[in-house]
Amino acid sequence: MRQVEDAIKIVLDNIKVLGTERIPIQDSFGRVLGEDVNSSIYLPPWDNSAMDGYAVKWDDIKEAAKERSANLKITGDIRAGSMPDKPVGKGEAIRIMTGAPVPDGADTVVRVEDTKYEGDVVSIFRSGKKGENIRKRGENVKEGDMVLKKGTLIGSGQLGSLAMIGKPVVTVFRRPVVNVMSTGDELADFDEKLTENKIPNSNSYAVASQVIEAGGVPHVVGIARDTKESTREKIGQGLVGDMLIVSGGVSVGKYDFVKDILKEYGIDMKFWTVGIRPGHPIAFGIVGERPVFGLPGNPVSTMVTFEVFARPALMKMGGHTSYFRPTVDAVVEEEFHDRPGRTHYVRAIARYKDGKYLVRSTGTQGSGVLMSMAYANSFMVLPPDKEKVLVGEIVKVQLIGRPIEHD
Ligand code: AMP
Ligand code: MG
Repeated sequence: MRQVEDAIKIVLDNIKVLGTERIPIQDSFGRVLGEDVNSSIYLPPWDNSAMDGYAVKWDDIKEAAKERSANLKITGDIRAGSMPDKPVGKGEAIRIMTGAPVPDGADTVVRVEDTKYEGDVVSIFRSGKKGENIRKRGENVKEGDMVLKKGTLIGSGQLGSLAMIGKPVVTVFRRPVVNVMSTGDELADFDEKLTENKIPNSNSYAVASQVIEAGGVPHVVGIARDTKESTREKIGQGLVGDMLIVSGGVSVGKYDFVKDILKEYGIDMKFWTVGIRPGHPIAFGIVGERPVFGLPGNPVSTMVTFEVFARPALMKMGGHTSYFRPTVDAVVEEEFHDRPGRTHYVRAIARYKDGKYLVRSTGTQGSGVLMSMAYANSFMVLPPDKEKVLVGEIVKVQLIGRPIEHD
């Protein structure tokens, strides 16, 4: 049976990175940089004061002490946002505010707290060190410095840095547009009556939200009924944009038409079973240039296989440089039994206590029990040969971006 790692590799090998677009940086939070960003300015642009104080020549104050002040003539005052209009001469001081450019002639700033003034004379009671309280030109960034690399996820620190270097517009990767389709005669959408033969369609909405989390734009195509005609029509509608994700109808049931219809549309099927629990069968192939996933219909299987196969694909499309969730080692808190043979993604609750992660399953792990996803903040990833995990054992846990309780 094809193992999970091999299947992920096949998916990624068949995914192309999307193109880029230019957007205002105000809109760039959560986007991925599509260019290397170099600074075109020096920051700070000039030597400037790190304190409110007095710009002086250190030679004039090097003997200053508590009982023996150095007394200098105040010849002016520079606020942040103005430029010095005269140099500091010998025996002189210029009052300076935090962030204001240091005037020529001065090599040191003395903090207000170490001074006292009367009229136009300031008494300085501390020599400090030469050069103190001056932030040097280019100390933060120099012209030509690379500030951020292509492929960087833009968070607040990155967005702030773009603003800092005066870059109003930035190149980012396009968001993948993903068509999301469900299949099944038993499904009722919100605009339909939930008659006795129906259950609510949950996969369309769960998957659409997973697409958003992965940085994509979901388009919900709706439900194909379990006929060839309906499946053909909906798949046809879904074969636009950057990816199609179908849930259900990929198994071996009499009314599972998804694979047949994808063949009609000329799919180059890369695989359609993987050794994963929950979630086998799962189909992946290319129609034209467009990747298509046929995820199993059981709601947990749908979400887990999205996480494992479709999310990395979307991360790659969207220009990210790393595609996977963080994995940590965790100590098992409750014994868990498993049928061996496939890699098991056990929905789990991880928490952080006394310097380490602890983990337990969310309980019932049936592939239709969506509550197991609702309560999970992680997956315990158990290799195919694993039959049970015991209390105290160390396992691999994939964190899925949910809150984690800690002490
Ligand atoms: P299938 O893969 O089509 O055989 O579906 C497997 C199971 O998942 C069946 O019990 C379906 O009712 C259920 N199922 C399939 N699609 C959905 C959906 N969109 N929302 C909720 N349950 C679904
Ligand atoms: Mg079905």
